Amino acid sequence: METIANILNDECIGKEIQIHGWVYRVRSSAKLCFIIVRDHSDVIQTVGKIEDLTEEQFKILSSLTIESSLEITGIISKDERAITGYEMKIISFKIFQRNDNFPITKDQGEEFLLDNRHLWIRSREFNAILKIRSTIFKAFSEFFFNSGYYEVHPPMMVSSATEGGSTLFKVPFFGDTAFLTQSSQFYLETFIFSLEKVFTVSPSFRAEKSRTWRHLTEYWHAEGEVAWIGNDQMMDIEEALIKHIIRQVIKENTHELNILKRDISVLEKSLEPFHRMTYSELIKKAQNLGLNLKFGDDLGADEERAIMVHFDKPVFVTSFPEELKTFYHRPDPENPGFILCHDLLAPEGYGEIIGGGERIWSLDELKGRIQKAGLKEEDYYWYLDLRRYGSIPHSGFGLGLDRLCLWLMKQENIKEVIAFPRTIRRLRP
Ligand code: ATP
Ligand code: MG
Repeated sequence: METIANILNDECIGKEIQIHGWVYRVRSSAKLCFIIVRDHSDVIQTVGKIEDLTEEQFKILSSLTIESSLEITGIISKDERAITGYEMKIISFKIFQRNDNFPITKDQGEEFLLDNRHLWIRSREFNAILKIRSTIFKAFSEFFFNSGYYEVHPPMMVSSATEGGSTLFKVPFFGDTAFLTQSSQFYLETFIFSLEKVFTVSPSFRAEKSRTWRHLTEYWHAEGEVAWIGNDQMMDIEEALIKHIIRQVIKENTHELNILKRDISVLEKSLEPFHRMTYSELIKKAQNLGLNLKFGDDLGADEERAIMVHFDKPVFVTSFPEELKTFYHRPDPENPGFILCHDLLAPEGYGEIIGGGERIWSLDELKGRIQKAGLKEEDYYWYLDLRRYGSIPHSGFGLGLDRLCLWLMKQENIKEVIAFPRTIRRLRP
């Protein structure tokens, strides 16, 4: 048994080969029947000729419907006219299942395709999306393993919020209430006191009512936490990480990027040094672009889109005003009112893909910020303990992997880069 991609070469010409797959397209005339077969790797044109087959066999082949599953044995030849340059002449075949009508045909609406995602993921485009996504996830972990990090596994059911209470999902928990995690950052911070450099890739859940092109209620969150480093060094690591992922995608998925019509030269631009600017500089830039933003405004999907369409490589935004960020971020001792943190905004209008920065490591300072935020110290007793016993400077980040997929594949909506999206209106399939 061979994969289709492996037989699309001159060395296979004249050889008898067996493939497995699904019918991608069928076209038949009185004497010829063309069946394009797909497997996970590619498609190939196969041809059944009336003179090579029994009447019964020819009838079965020419009445095949798309997505029927089959096995074909045949001889490979070169054919410029065929979809992938080679053709297989059918000698024998076995049908596993002949379908009735496959529900997905041309020109169907977005909601219909979402209702049928379990079937739509077989399409050539989605197959390409899933392969690129797989590379992105692999490259993320690879980067950190290569740099001496440990992968850790924080809980998904937690007792308190990291990013603010309004977007938490509640789960009944033996008479008590648990929440689905929004971020594993606090747990990652505990791990560094044992392992120093750690990362995790796990789902985060946000009951966000905002329905934008870049928000899911369940998304894949890749987080890292590093002992002994500050905000600038954290950004250096993230920049190297994103470049590593881009290089791997270009190396392993040129074919898939072409299927999606993604211009690789645009991605290559992001292998150059990223821009870095402060929040205040970004607001000025936005005002110069004619946007109605003022110092102190939080940037959402629309604002970031309007700014980032003007950039062709990522931008680190630093020094946010204290009021805009959560309590755990470390205030800048040299720049009162501002904090040592960053967001990484993706170019081509995509906006935030990473949020990160240095964490407060002084017990008193952290207690003060918790109080100021109106939170209860006892909810954070274990987080505060990290500042009681051997506290150290440290930084970390959270990367939305689905958002990175969205940008790298240049899709319009985040739902297009995850097989089974969960949004405020969708829990099926
Ligand atoms: P936004 O302002 O876009 O809602 P955020 O600032 O609330 O994002 P963070 O709490 O900083 O997000 O989360 C870290 C990263 O997780 C973000 O930079 C983003 O890439 C990703 N992320 C956050 N919320 C979502 C979501 N609802 N769907 C997909 N990815 C998300
Ligand atoms: Mg953020």
